[in-house]
Amino acid sequence: MNIIVLVKQVPDTTDVKLDPKTGNLIREGIESIINPDDRHALEAAINLKEAAGGKVTVLSMGPPQAIDAISEAMGMGADRGILLSDRAFAGADTWATSFTLGKAIEKIGKYDLIFCGRQAIDGDTAQIGPQVGDYLHMSQVSYVYEIEKVNRKSIVVKRRLEDGFEKVRAAMPALLTVIGELNVPRYSHVGRLIDACKEKAPIEVWNAADIGVQTSEVGLEGSLTHVIKTFAPKFQREGEMLEGDTKESVKSLVGKLKENRLI
Ligand SMILES: Cc1cc2nc3c(=O)[nH]c(=O)nc-3n(C[C@H](O)[C@H](O)[C@H](O)COP(=O)(O)OP(=O)(O)OC[C@H]3O[C@@H](n4cnc5c(N)ncnc54)[C@H](O)[C@@H]3O)c2cc1C
Repeated sequence: MNIIVLVKQVPDTTDVKLDPKTGNLIREGIESIINPDDRHALEAAINLKEAAGGKVTVLSMGPPQAIDAISEAMGMGADRGILLSDRAFAGADTWATSFTLGKAIEKIGKYDLIFCGRQAIDGDTAQIGPQVGDYLHMSQVSYVYEIEKVNRKSIVVKRRLEDGFEKVRAAMPALLTVIGELNVPRYSHVGRLIDACKEKAPIEVWNAADIGVQTSEVGLEGSLTHVIKTFAPKFQREGEMLEGDTKESVKSLVGKLKENRLI
């Protein structure tokens, strides 16, 4: 079974802060990690490979340092690592990101399953998995928390709903976006991690030309949406202290609550 796992390197925080002048993420002093949902995607893919044989390929689009996330994934048990890195990919919206990942997957070729996390903790859109599935015209199931059965023709999974679950059979090849309930991810194996870092298991770096795209189709230029301004909302609440324990101070409090239609 050939499985591709999409992995995003993200800052190790959900408290994303923006530079008020540039609108860019402040990355200084924040460690980068594999997006948490993607670790569950990797665990599921490696488990299936161990049970049924085959190969797990990790694919990530990001700056050169995203190679660390791929090395870690290979330390967990992935067999092949590919980083899509090119200045032309910078500034991509979700559409351009999905298109670029889709093109790379077409170049990788034969695959039975594609695993993604449900959502990245920085961008937070949960759009990439479904968009990649749509681009590749393949069956897709989101919010997967259990894999029941898989064979060459189909896969049976359970997907989480707000008030229960749905059991779905999807034709192969299929794309799944997974949630944390699916499994407990393993740690990287030190020996494998060292191999990945020493380039015994080299990580391929592909640019725009390698995946056969024009620079105008990817990154900021290829994006259908453009961010005009990014800002963190300012706290506009003002506090007021009412002092005293007299009837008057209670009346004053009740008056203010009524005035503001809070009671
Ligand atoms: C309008 C708009 C403009 C943007 N402009 C910029 C910009 O100028 N600069 C900038 O840095 N970002 C920009 N972004 C953010 C960037 O588009 C997203 O970070 C990126 O498309 C992934 O979306 P997400 O983080 O919401 O991932 P989600 O859709 O939440 O991720 C779901 C899953 O998809 C997979 N995945 C997501 N991203 C990747 C990836 N890069 N490689 C491999 N797998 C992946 C992972 O499995 C992940 O768990 C912009 C986003 C929007 C909506």
